[in-house]
Amino acid sequence: MIIVLKPGTTKEQADEILGKIADLGCKPLYMPGEERVVLGALGDERVLGSLHLENDPRVESITEILSPYKLVSREFHPHDTVVNIGKRSVGGETFAVMAGPCSVESHEQMSEAARVVKQGGGTVLRGGAFKPRTSPYAFQGLGVEGLEILQSVSAEYDIPTITEVVEVADIEAVQDRADALQVGTRNMQNYRLLAALGRCSKPVLLKRGMAAELKELLLAAEYIVSEGNPHVMLCERGIKTFGSEMRNTLDLAAVPYLKQRTHLPVIVDPSHGTGVRELVAPMAWAAAAAGADGIMVEVHPNPASALSDGKQSLFPEQFNELMVGLRRFAEAAGRRL
Ligand code: PEP
Ligand code: MN
Repeated sequence: MIIVLKPGTTKEQADEILGKIADLGCKPLYMPGEERVVLGALGDERVLGSLHLENDPRVESITEILSPYKLVSREFHPHDTVVNIGKRSVGGETFAVMAGPCSVESHEQMSEAARVVKQGGGTVLRGGAFKPRTSPYAFQGLGVEGLEILQSVSAEYDIPTITEVVEVADIEAVQDRADALQVGTRNMQNYRLLAALGRCSKPVLLKRGMAAELKELLLAAEYIVSEGNPHVMLCERGIKTFGSEMRNTLDLAAVPYLKQRTHLPVIVDPSHGTGVRELVAPMAWAAAAAGADGIMVEVHPNPASALSDGKQSLFPEQFNELMVGLRRFAEAAGRRL
């Protein structure tokens, strides 16, 4: 950490700060200049947070050398993490395709969706049972009944599942019936939920908050990993900007940015990222080209009748076309489908 002191700070005041740095186990450095005194702290500077130097009236600025997150950083763990969802893996050489409807609506709908996903080459079946909807009057999901449908369809088609968990009280029900748990954009900063997911054994897909910086996403992942669950995947799903043509702005630069800074798998959701079904396949291909470890897409046997997100849901034949095109992009990026 580099600490620039305000003009007029005395040597005694600098020494007092340096003493506190040394007490916390970092090596203190004193670097007086012509106009400013600069202090340094060598070592694991994350311990210096307790000094609250940013509040110190003698301090002009602080520059951190290490990232504020640790367990999820590549500095700490250089090799790519591979997360297992049932018998499938996410990260490493394979490119994961998580697909299915926005919501679980019925056994028949999920069964047909699973058939389409499996035949098209998808690796994980998605479907929300607990739905965080903008309007309280919109379909809220089937809850536990939806989880049970997902579970039985998973066994029928031998495909692992992922579904959203919206609150701590539901974790047990979800982790008993699904292979992976999803944290939605609205809950990325629900730290109590994240910590509780850190104490469960199933993998977690953490979606980026719709107005979250990537550093905040990484710190949110750190909450889960620091509680003991290392099986975390990050998901770029679009952020709010000023345009109205698309539901969100899919931030594809987030993919290489995250891959450079974290060992966790990075997934892209072009369905929520665009909100427009015609844009989903091209953005899925772009995600593969950008180095993503997989995609999450919404596909529905009959999008016109979907109880949520029908407009962005792919028709089965569009999903098949997406998959055919995807192979070449994934291979160009060094992945296998
Ligand atoms: C979803 O995956 O259906 C969903 C609600 O996603 P998000 O949290 O990204 O809006
Ligand atoms: Mn959705």
